[in-house]
Amino acid sequence: MLSDNVREVEDRILKACERAGRKREDVTLIAVSKTKPVSDIEEVMQAGIMEFGENKVQELKEKYEILPKNLRWHMIGHLQRNKVKYLPGRTVLIHSVDSVRLAEEIDHEFGRHGLTADILLEVNVAGELSKFGVSPEDAPALAESISTLEHVRIKGLMTIAPFTDDPESNRVYFRKLKQLSVDIAAKNIDNVSMSDLSMGMTGDYEVAIEEGATYVRVGTGIFGERDYQI
Ligand SMILES: *Cc1c(COP(=O)(O)O)cnc(C)c1O
Repeated sequence: MLSDNVREVEDRILKACERAGRKREDVTLIAVSKTKPVSDIEEVMQAGIMEFGENKVQELKEKYEILPKNLRWHMIGHLQRNKVKYLPGRTVLIHSVDSVRLAEEIDHEFGRHGLTADILLEVNVAGELSKFGVSPEDAPALAESISTLEHVRIKGLMTIAPFTDDPESNRVYFRKLKQLSVDIAAKNIDNVSMSDLSMGMTGDYEVAIEEGATYVRVGTGIFGERDYQI
């Protein structure tokens, strides 16, 4: 039962918050529903989850149309500029902005709808060649450039840590992202907030919470393994 998975994840989040001396309400659980059917999402909704994450615009759009409008959709995947036009009104937070050009497109499309997009800057803290994201060194300058856009509001940083069997080995990257957010916040850039940190997935979300995550993105731990054949 997916509701049992939700309960277990909730329990672990609560314990991680307690270990870290943090309040449970300061961490938002995003159920990552990519590749999963609407019926699974409905089951997870029944267990009390309202925040869902998708990594493809088309899939987010389709699920948004079908499911209740009070759900909160997070765009967590690499974003192509020609897909941005489908996002205004459908997503509460774009986690994966790593270039000025992409931010400009978001500014343009949300502006056309009289909206402002909340975004996170995706940072490749581990320097993995296979990953998207700005380097930690370039992140402050990227924040400054994007801060001038009228219809985009930077709320913090996001990272995808390396895939590993040992969650402890990712602690260093979560710490690095937290420190980077403190460094950028100290620059007091107009229109830039560093209040949010999106980090931690099924394998390592408890460590991420201990290191300051405000959003954890949990897919497999809630929905089970994904089947990419279908
Ligand atoms: C798929 C995905 C997740 C969830 O991964 P799990 O290991 O299944 O929890 C989290 N974040 C991003 C960006 C993803 O693409």
